[in-house]
Amino acid sequence: MLANPIPWPDGNRCAVALTWDVDADSGLNYAHPNSADNLVATQSFVRYGPSIAVPRLMEIFRRLELRLTFFVPGWVIESYPAAIELIVSNGHEVGLHGYMHERSNQLTRDEEAGVLVRSIEAYSKRIGGRPRGWRAPGFAFSKHSLDLLVNAGFDYDSSLMGDDIPYSLQGTSGQLVELPTDWTLDDWPYYMHNRDFGYTMPISAPARAMEVFRAEFDAAHTYGALWISVWHPFLSGRLSKFHAIVELIEYMRSRGDVWFARLDEICDHVRNLETRGKWRPSVVRIPS
Ligand code: ZN
Repeated sequence: MLANPIPWPDGNRCAVALTWDVDADSGLNYAHPNSADNLVATQSFVRYGPSIAVPRLMEIFRRLELRLTFFVPGWVIESYPAAIELIVSNGHEVGLHGYMHERSNQLTRDEEAGVLVRSIEAYSKRIGGRPRGWRAPGFAFSKHSLDLLVNAGFDYDSSLMGDDIPYSLQGTSGQLVELPTDWTLDDWPYYMHNRDFGYTMPISAPARAMEVFRAEFDAAHTYGALWISVWHPFLSGRLSKFHAIVELIEYMRSRGDVWFARLDEICDHVRNLETRGKWRPSVVRIPS
């Protein structure tokens, strides 16, 4: 099925990265700057992420001995220091996810550059060092994003949907490793229902969501692909959904030969294969 299969470390059949987007109330405040303080139920709905779900995730992933990647907007890094400290001290990677969860392709190039500067400042001040990874809020990667990210020193992006395995993005300033996912592995279509977000859809049972996530995993395991979840603590960190995720992880482990990794580790693996001449990713140019 794969034209150019990638060799995974230690003979593993596939790579699994359980990644989480810790949006909290950034997007809500961005979308409703003058009324978010009066949307009290929705504030509580999304603040469940850093206050309740993140500590729960940290405890369970510590027991499962898993280290993951969390994408966090700069404003959330500044506003929820205890949750960020928990994520970092448990050995997880923090990637950036905008400053206020802005949709990059609705900004001018200068505005997008400004968001990047502000979010990197938040990261460097509160976490230290520089972020290596980026996920565009709402997958709204713009035609300028690649060059802005390359110039800002990022190593990889995980917003695009153009392959089943890592590939390379070529811009005018340089390259990024792309670690693709798609809406299938996002929890939003299954669980999100909130009028203040303008999104009211039937809520799926966790068993239905897991049926889809597991089918994607089975195919990745059979054909040697990359499986990246896009989950939100305020959705998938709730009891019944997170219970189902723990069962899914146990199922993945029972299949064997799965490389559970952070995205920075997968990025390093790709670059290492290229350097050693063991494998070459396909290349996509942006803007096309
Ligand atoms: Zn998000």
